[in-house]
This record gives sequence, structure tokens and C-alpha cells, in this order.
Amino acid sequence: MRRELEIPRWPQPASVAVSLTFDVDAESGFLSEGAEYAARLTTLSEAAFGPARGVGRILDLLSELALPATFYVPGDTAERHTATVEQIVAAGHEVGHHGHLHLRSDRISADQQREEIERGFAALQESVGVRPRGYRSPSWELTPETFALLGEFGFDYDSSLMGDDRPYLEEREDRTILELPVHWSLDDWTHFWWGIDEGGRLATPSSVLEVWLAEFESALADRRHVTYTMHPEIIGRGHRIAMLRRFLETIRDRANIWFASHGEICDYLRKP
Ligand code: ZN
Repeated sequence: MRRELEIPRWPQPASVAVSLTFDVDAESGFLSEGAEYAARLTTLSEAAFGPARGVGRILDLLSELALPATFYVPGDTAERHTATVEQIVAAGHEVGHHGHLHLRSDRISADQQREEIERGFAALQESVGVRPRGYRSPSWELTPETFALLGEFGFDYDSSLMGDDRPYLEEREDRTILELPVHWSLDDWTHFWWGIDEGGRLATPSSVLEVWLAEFESALADRRHVTYTMHPEIIGRGHRIAMLRRFLETIRDRANIWFASHGEICDYLRKP
């Protein structure tokens, strides 16, 4: 159940708040799909392009424009690509919880959902010494069991649901969590992904730029917060990182924006 949250004015002079989020899925999502993927070197290499090349391009762009971001990192990625995740942490960006093997909550048992949370925490702690405050469910599919675990493990916020286009409170039974909502249209995966088994879209960057700018204009008119979601293996391709640069430079010139990590938005909304 959604409960409306009173949103204060953003830190002056900002009239809109934007969060840039990057889900560093790498190979985890494929390896969790089944053993046959272990032999699919091309598919795995495309996933590994994210940490190998995409993350560096994203970090360079964020550094150049002096923007913060939240990176949601599966435990498996932290173990497999520790040096890359260390670079994210060293650059001062927030790291959020994104499961361990990127297993979809609705496809696994309650015990496995708990294991995904516990192993994700342990891997991030042991690999890069981080304890995330926020959670984003793999593939954005959240179940009542995982929702209860978020309260049990003390997460400050979730970013998986789509019940509004601004922060709100999600309530279930006796539990409440701050929700920083997402949407498929503001995700690079749905626009750009193409796979040999299922096909896909391979949209032109200009068409995605048009959608994302239109949503920004709506957020500006509403003076609300908006989250964009990207994946290093998708947005990190040369022609797409150029689109991200154009998007960021365009909105930065358009309005006074508070670019904030999800943790910063959470702190701001919670302050008395
Ligand atoms: Zn993911």
C-alpha cells in the first residue's frame, strides 16, 4: 500500500531532484539463470564489459561533471570484480544492495530470498567493506517475503516499486519503508537491450534521450524527485555514454537541480 509523503522543498536553489543509479549486474544475472550460461562465453563477455569498460566511463563522466550516484551491486559482482567496485567506493559513490546472484525474488523460496540478502551483505562487506543502507530487488520484482526482510535487516529505503513517480512510503502489515520508485521507461535496459535468444530493441540514443528529457521536464514542473536507472554494460557503450553526457549537460543547463544519491534523498526526507 502506498502512503503519500510530504515532500519538502529541495535544498535551495534546486527546484528538482535527480538521482542517477547504476545496477552493476555483470555476469550475476546470467549465471543465476542456469548452468548452461557458464559455457556461453560471448554472453558472459558482454555482461563483463560492464565492469571492464562501462564502469570506468561512467566514473569518468560523473567525476568530470561532479555528480554523485548510487550503484546497486550484487554480492557476486563485488566478489568477481572487486577492484572495479573498489573504484566506485573510492570515488565516493553510494553502494546499494542488489541481491547476491541477482535471483528474482518471485522465482525463489522464502529461504533463498533470505540467503540472497545475507550473502549480498556478506560479499559487499568482505570485498569492499561496505554495509548498504538501501535495497533494489533484482529485476525490480519484490515479494511480500523480501519486503519483510527489508524491515528485519534494517534497510533505510527501497528502490524497486513503481507505485508513484515521487518518493512515498510503502506499507505492508506492520512494516513501512521509504520507497524511491523506478520505472521501465527510465531504465536503459528496456530501451537498448538486445539478446540472441529473445531479441530486443536496440533503440537509437536520440529516442531514449527524448523520453528521459520529457520525464525530466515533468519532474521539473512538479518540483519532484526522479530516478534514472542504468547498467554499465548497456549505457557504458561508446555511443550511449555520449547520450548520457548530452542528457546530463542538457538538464544541468535547464534548471537548478539537486543531484543526489538515494542515501542523500533518504536522509533529506527523514530529517525533522
Ligand atoms: Zn539488476
